[in-house]
Amino acid sequence: MLSMQNISMVYRTDLVETHALREFSLEVDEGDFISVTGPSGSGKTTFLNIAGLLERFTGGRYELDGRDVSALSDAESSAVRNQKIGFIFQSFNLIPDLNLFDNVDVPLRYRGFKAAERKRRIENVLEMVGLASRMKHLPSQLSGGQQQRVAIARALAGEPRFLLADEPTGNLDSHMAMSVMELIAEINRNGTTIIMVTHDPSLAEMANRNVHILDGRVSDNGADTQMAKQMAKHVAKQWVDQMAAPTATAATG
Ligand code: ADP
Ligand code: MG
Repeated sequence: MLSMQNISMVYRTDLVETHALREFSLEVDEGDFISVTGPSGSGKTTFLNIAGLLERFTGGRYELDGRDVSALSDAESSAVRNQKIGFIFQSFNLIPDLNLFDNVDVPLRYRGFKAAERKRRIENVLEMVGLASRMKHLPSQLSGGQQQRVAIARALAGEPRFLLADEPTGNLDSHMAMSVMELIAEINRNGTTIIMVTHDPSLAEMANRNVHILDGRVSDNGADTQMAKQMAKHVAKQWVDQMAAPTATAATG
């Protein structure tokens, strides 16, 4: 679904050049749930912004659904983004004087859906995040965890195939973080490909694969660990099947 080869990203100011990403290569399959970890300043947000076509990169090749997206115009980028990609940020970015319904409605209006279709989608996603009964509440009337659920609903209302989350639980206490994580895992089980940046190793564990970034490079793409996990599951299942199978003597009586 996503393929990056030797992506580089250099931020230039008058005085300094910062190499935020260098020789950054990564493959992500449809349906993957990937956590991204790495020290502060290692390039996690830069990677996510490039993956989501929010930022252009300096060099390398990026294909999304088999299409080279390096040379898209701004209008083409935003069309791809609107159709395929949802974002969740650490700060929930809700509009304070709009109620929940209207907050979720903002990107749908922007995409030009008709009122009835918008209403159907908004009610559907607010139901999914457990806030259907609060549609007329303002963000300030909700807890942090609930506000992040609204932000997730807003991201899902566009029915993205690809969800990008930058420290989505960074502003939440551990209990709320866990419930938001469970929601994200459920979204993945329903078929959405997810890349989630997190500081928290125990949350990173909940993904199917962990990618670690150091100094703007992928230092571990998690593929080996993922394969080892799958092998372990397979072996465990064989054991269980063997234990459950009737023995030859028992079967023949
Ligand atoms: P992380 O999300 O892992 O903390 P970032 O991707 O935000 O890291 O940043 C990677 C590097 O790029 C850092 O050194 C950061 O200071 C630099 N950087 C990020 N955004 C900008 C920008 N807009 N202008 C200049 N430097 C930037
Ligand atoms: Mg960051």
